Amino acid sequence: MVKVLCVLYPDPVDGYPKTYARDEIPKIDHYPDGQTAPTPSAIDFKPGELLGSVSGELGLRKFLEDAGHTLVVTSDKEGKNSTFDKELADAEVVISQPFWPAYMTAERIAKANKLKLIITAGIGSDHTDLQAAMDKGITVAEVTYSNSLSVAEHVMMMILALVRNYIPSYGWVIKGGWNIADCVERSYDLEGMNVGTVAAGRIGLAVLRRLKPFDVKLHYTDKHRLPAEVEKELGLTYHPNVESLVKVCDVVTINAPLHPETENMFNDKLIGMMKRGSYIVNTARGKICDRDAIVRGLESGQLAGYAGDVWFPQPAPKDHPWRTMPHHGMTPHVSGTSLSAQTRYAAGTREILESYFADKPIRTEYLIVDKGKLAGTGAKSYTAGDMTKGTERAA
Ligand code: NDP
Repeated sequence: MVKVLCVLYPDPVDGYPKTYARDEIPKIDHYPDGQTAPTPSAIDFKPGELLGSVSGELGLRKFLEDAGHTLVVTSDKEGKNSTFDKELADAEVVISQPFWPAYMTAERIAKANKLKLIITAGIGSDHTDLQAAMDKGITVAEVTYSNSLSVAEHVMMMILALVRNYIPSYGWVIKGGWNIADCVERSYDLEGMNVGTVAAGRIGLAVLRRLKPFDVKLHYTDKHRLPAEVEKELGLTYHPNVESLVKVCDVVTINAPLHPETENMFNDKLIGMMKRGSYIVNTARGKICDRDAIVRGLESGQLAGYAGDVWFPQPAPKDHPWRTMPHHGMTPHVSGTSLSAQTRYAAGTREILESYFADKPIRTEYLIVDKGKLAGTGAKSYTAGDMTKGTERAA
């Protein structure tokens, strides 16, 4: 019998939904590169239900309990007396989502003597100290591609919201105003601008494809160059480093994982190299940007806008300066947890568990760490190290 400890975000303040805005969601079988969407033997939820909050339980309870396992679900994850810390000692599997991450620090990993598998229900495993997981032989897996396109859609929304000054204009309507000049004094067309992505993986490439019809000039930097035919099809300019990219772009979107190479990449120096009045959209990870350098950039006018949904730590403290800095379009970490995305990553989490219980290999593309080293997607996109320092400041 295996104890599975699952950390999920709290239910809505008005309680777990009894009805939904829509009756169905489109069925996605494949992603653009041909990879199949998750293929568990069955699911015990209706696609489109809220699965990522405590009462949704990622749709796992029946499956786990029918097989004789124990499922503990909590949202109480911070502090030494948290339910999570109390339950961790004898857990074999830990599951959490980046939106409400169970920070798996070396200290926690050291205490979890039975721990064998850490699953990210979603994408991005930087909330786990990967070095500590490697040292202890713990497997780390995530549901690669499950919400990449969900995030790409959010990036598009945020680029347009910033450049066109949507959020303040909406604010004038709510305030009862008709203040056209106030709305448009910071409003531009995206058409003709130079837009670049830091990383052109699953999300970055999807963003480039979605931007193409807007008649913008497209740029990217990545550790590996895209195939020549893709560069040609999208009219991409490749930059060998981020400095070269930011110097020519009006809008920069960040779509790289957080690992030692990308931590604090957007600091005062790099922001100082950008054109005055640039926009940054970061839905990758908060720590890729230096928190205070972003605030300084917005206050000085070097940046015209900053938007994203990723913070550090999460939940962000009430006094986090990104809540109050000028010209921002921040949301809580939601881009990858639309109801559509939840259907896929809940199914993918079950697929990983089914493989684990049957002693079958977990899909290579889902692996981040395995057998003491970076593996699968982890070996391709990450470098070894620990990104969890400072997590004790989570609200
Ligand atoms: P992928 O693994 O498909 O893509 C990541 C890309 O980043 C790869 O092309 C990789 O290069 C590139 N990369 C890594 N390091 C660097 C670097 N130093 N400079 C430039 N490029 C680099 O992942 P996804 O596109 O699906 O997701 C990317 C990230 O987005 C996730 O790791 C996660 O942090 C975040 N995310 C956020 C979500 C949200 O809800 N806000 C949801 C999902 C993901 P290569 O592989 O060529 O070496």
